[in-house]
Amino acid sequence: MTPTPLTAQAIDFLRPLLWEEDDVLDGLTADLIERGPQIQIAPDEGALLHLLLTIIRAERVLELGTLFGYSAIWMARALPPNGHLDTVELSDVHADAAEGWFRRAGLADRITIVRGAALEVLPKLRGPYDALFIDAVKEEYPAYLEHGLRLVRPGGLILADNGLWGGRIGDPAQTDVGVEGIRRYLRDVASHPRLHSTVVAAGDGLAVSLVK
Ligand code: MG
Repeated sequence: MTPTPLTAQAIDFLRPLLWEEDDVLDGLTADLIERGPQIQIAPDEGALLHLLLTIIRAERVLELGTLFGYSAIWMARALPPNGHLDTVELSDVHADAAEGWFRRAGLADRITIVRGAALEVLPKLRGPYDALFIDAVKEEYPAYLEHGLRLVRPGGLILADNGLWGGRIGDPAQTDVGVEGIRRYLRDVASHPRLHSTVVAAGDGLAVSLVK
């Protein structure tokens, strides 16, 4: 059968039940509408990240691409009190905004923002992490994956946003470096002997890979 499209009516029913955003996430979203690009993950994807981290009992998580901290808040809330999320952000404007939202969420002591370009920061980081969430420069996804395989423990997860890239992933007419980067990432996670992978149609598509 063909996949069931996630209609607006279905979202209206499911969102308050399972994907509810509290005042902090609502405020952060309003802040993005006012002064940031609205490219944060969708609530269903946030809820899925939270659930996946809970399932593997994640304590130490790495994120590439903080933006205003929307996904980081969903993920940090899945961690135990001694857990920690490191999140890498290139833009100082975004990192400053995220710092404010982490304080308002009461998560300032559980999240560290590492300022810089992901490919410059990654070689300096040491594992093991329980999970990596990739949501930064699309053409760099395959290079992030190489670092992920070094940094994430066996039994951990390597996750990546924009696995569907607005549907462009399957359109042969689309050949820009971003879409090609995501395509290569998906081919790499599909064929890598240490990964067991799929893409879930949550938000803009969450690529999920279990590290063997
Ligand atoms: Mg994204």
